[in-house]
Parts: sequence; C-alpha cells; structure tokens
Amino acid sequence: MSHKEFRLYDTLSKRVKPLETQEPGHLRFYSCGPTVYSYTHIGNFRSFLTSDLVVRTAMALGWRVTWVCNITDVGHLTQDSFADAAGEDKMARALHSKEGERFHNVWELAEYYTEAYKQDWRQLNLVEPTIRPKATQHVREQILAAEDLIAKGFAYETPTGVYYSVEAFPDYGKLSGNTQENLRKGVRDVVQDDNKRESADFAVWKKDDKHLMQWFSPYGWGFPGWHIECSVMARAYLGDTLDLHSGGEDNIFPHHECEIAQSEALTGKPFSNHWLHTRFLQVNGEKMAKSAGNFYTVRGLMEKGFDPLAIRLALMGGVYGKPLNFTDQGLIDAMGNLERLRRAWTLAEAAAANASGEDTLGQTMSVLYSEALDAMCDNLNTSVALAKALEGAKLIAREGESMSAETARSAAEFLSQINELLGIIRSESGVAPTVAAPSGPSDAEIDALVEARNAAKKSKNFAAADQLRNELDALGIELRDSPAGTTWVRKISL
Ligand code: AMP
Ligand code: ZN
Repeated sequence: MSHKEFRLYDTLSKRVKPLETQEPGHLRFYSCGPTVYSYTHIGNFRSFLTSDLVVRTAMALGWRVTWVCNITDVGHLTQDSFADAAGEDKMARALHSKEGERFHNVWELAEYYTEAYKQDWRQLNLVEPTIRPKATQHVREQILAAEDLIAKGFAYETPTGVYYSVEAFPDYGKLSGNTQENLRKGVRDVVQDDNKRESADFAVWKKDDKHLMQWFSPYGWGFPGWHIECSVMARAYLGDTLDLHSGGEDNIFPHHECEIAQSEALTGKPFSNHWLHTRFLQVNGEKMAKSAGNFYTVRGLMEKGFDPLAIRLALMGGVYGKPLNFTDQGLIDAMGNLERLRRAWTLAEAAAANASGEDTLGQTMSVLYSEALDAMCDNLNTSVALAKALEGAKLIAREGESMSAETARSAAEFLSQINELLGIIRSESGVAPTVAAPSGPSDAEIDALVEARNAAKKSKNFAAADQLRNELDALGIELRDSPAGTTWVRKISL
C-alpha cells in the first residue's frame, strides 16, 4: 500500500483534510445516484465521474473500496430539491409526457431509464460500483426507520404523512448552514405546509393512496420521502458511519442535511466522516438541468460523433470544486488530447518489437506517473494529472518509431497506469462505443492532405501549406501542430 496521503476538501469541516478510512486500507463510500425518470445528463455524470476518480485514486494507493451508488426509482416531488415534498411527482409527470407514452407504467419507465443510465455509465468508462441498490428494494427498511424516528422523538405523524422534526435535532444545518433559525429568516426557500409543525420539517413518509408507486405501511398506503432512502441504504451496506459520502453541490441542501439529521438521530453516531460535492456543469453559465432543458446526454453526443472518452476528458478539463462550462471547444480540445494519448500508446506497442537498447524513458515516466498520482491525491487535481499524462505522451511521440524495446515497454507501462488512474485512453468496461460515423472526408483522405501540408512545410513552400490548411479548415478539420508532429480533429458542434 502506498503511503501517499489522499487529501480532499470536506464540505462539513470546510477544509481540505486527509481522507481517512475506519478500517485500514478499506474505503466505505456512498454516492447519491440519479433519479431515473429521464436520461441521465452529462452534468449528473460530472458528479459520478468525481466519485469514479476518488475510487480510482484510492485503488491506485492500494486500498480496497466498497462503493455504493444508489438508484432513486421512486417518484419524488418536483420541489424536493429546494423545499421538501411538494409539487408534482417527477415519475408520474414523465409517464404522462410525450416520451412516457411507450411505457405501460412507472415501474417500466424507471427500469428503462435505469438501463440507459448504466449503458452511458459504461461508455464513460466509469468504474462499476460494488452495488447499486434501488430505493424500491428498500422500502421496508425505510418504513422501519420512520417508526424508529417516531419512537425516538425525532418524527411525528400527521394526516398527510410522517415528518422529521428539525427542532429535535440541534445539529440541523451543520452541513449547509441552513439552520432552522436561518430558514425561518428566509435564507432558503422551504415549503409552508399546514401539516408540518415547522416549515423546515421534512417528509419521511407521504400518505397517498393515489400515488402511482405505493406501499402499505403503519400509516396506510403511501411512499417514502426522498432523503430516507439514502440514510437506510448507506447504513445497510456500509454501516452506521461512512468514510465518505458524495453528490453534486445541489445535494448539500436539503438532501444531505436531511440524511445527516435522520441517520444521526437513528444511530447516535456521526453519519459520514467526509463529505464531497461536485460543482455544477454549466451551459452558458447556467446549471445543466433536466428541468431547464439545457442538457446533453452521452448517447446524444455519441450520435453526433463524439467519442465517449473525449466526453470524459472534457468533463475532467476542470477541477471538480469549480463550476465547469461545457463548450464545443472543450470537446474538440478533448478529442485532440485523446488522439495524442492513443497515438502514443499505439506507437509504444508497435515499438515493443524493436531491438533492445537503453531505456531512455523509464525514469522520467515513473516520475511523471508519481506526479499524476500526487495531483489526484491533492484534492483530485485533474488539470495537473492530465497535464502529466499529456507530457508523457509528448515525450513518447518524440522518441518515435525507432525507440528501443525497453523504452517502449516503459512508455506502454506509463500509459497503462495513467489509464487505470484516469480512465481516459482506452475503455476498460468492455463495451465498444457506438459513435456515429463522421460525415465528410474519410480519415485516409484527411491524412493524405495533412501529409501533403507537412511536405509543403518541409520544402518551405508556405503558400501551399497555408492553402492546404485552409482546404482542411473548409472540410471541418482542425490541425494541431506540436513539436511531436501534427494531429487533426474533426470539428463537430454540440
Ligand atoms: P438527480 O438525478 O437530479 O438526483 O441528480 C443526480 C446527481 O447529479 C446528483 O448528485 C446531483 O447533485 C448531480 N447533478 C445534477 N445536475 C448537475 C450538474 N449540472 N452538474 C453536476 N452535477 C449535477
Ligand atoms: Zn442520496
């Protein structure tokens, strides 16, 4: 096991601190998964990618990881995210929409979008979680938790449901700053509902015998509140106290604040020792969201011809702790970088058959890999880690086809380690991407034009070289000149 320290920002203590495991070398990690009423968009995937990178970094350090990433397949309410348990049911609304027409019922709709999510997950080469529990498979535990919360004096029953009494839990607000007092002052919107004692109280169980998904409980027919599913599933698979819990920034309040209140009331122990939140993926400076309609899906981008690993690279183009704007240029740059990394790997593999000789890269490659891992251990600094990967690819390209077999082996070893750490060069998921065939000239035709331009440049015929660049530009091809040679990418737009 490596003795490098893995440091991550912790939303609860508001500082970067070492990620510690209760059991030495075994990380117990819970991530909030998607609500499966529609396709998961790449904003959601930005958050899952952060979790994937935590898992990859932990594994690179030699840790074992138990990673639970749930599937929210109960229809929660449209206002859950900024208030609690109000508005229209998301699943029911999806079923009654145009896209919902092909499903017989909400169960089938949830199943369909769950499968689509798992496919897109694999395309992005995300590590498979240890388990993906579904909320609908854990309703019994959620009912038992509601009963236990009432018995312990943290929840109360009304004619419309069971609500958590925020007043009974003085630590409420410790994660988000939204204490009951602040909420009363109107710092954050919460739903006013006559059934609640306090507006900040939130639903653990909703009574509703008309709901499309309903279960029988001591409170009659109904369905669980959103937050309780994660409290019970985290506990069932990972125990009373987690080492790490993650989600997107919008999960901080109310979701994670409410999970803490419930779990700590139930067990009397800290719920999670570390909290990790990914800032939003944005489009034109606004949150990418299903409800805003400004979202891209993995499958949609693949239909346009974007390689899923280029999407992955683009999502890693900025650190998780800062918002990231998703742009055409970001994707095009990612395609160029992906191409460079792949070419370096192909080159190294081909050169493995060369004559043996001095290993001119071994030392540099191991330093670069170690620096990439250090960057990931430094609060997941993907920008630096990617720069190290690209620097390695550049050095490999510079060595060229004639490198010794030993050098080739060190080069391939570096790229394989980088791939394990960052998941960016070759998919390990075993699924072939189904990227749409590019329109326009074939790869061979473009290669020929690029070669002709290189030849023109070599013979100092710059007018001809410029002419060829313009020709390629008109064909939608962007050239990238570097000391290691010229690569090209197709300019596809979002
Ligand atoms: P949902 O399906 O809405 O429950 O979201 C699934 C996960 O994606 C949650 O952890 C959200 O916080 C996260 N998420 C939603 N939108 C974005 C976004 N634009 N950027 C990053 N994460 C997001
Ligand atoms: Zn959750």
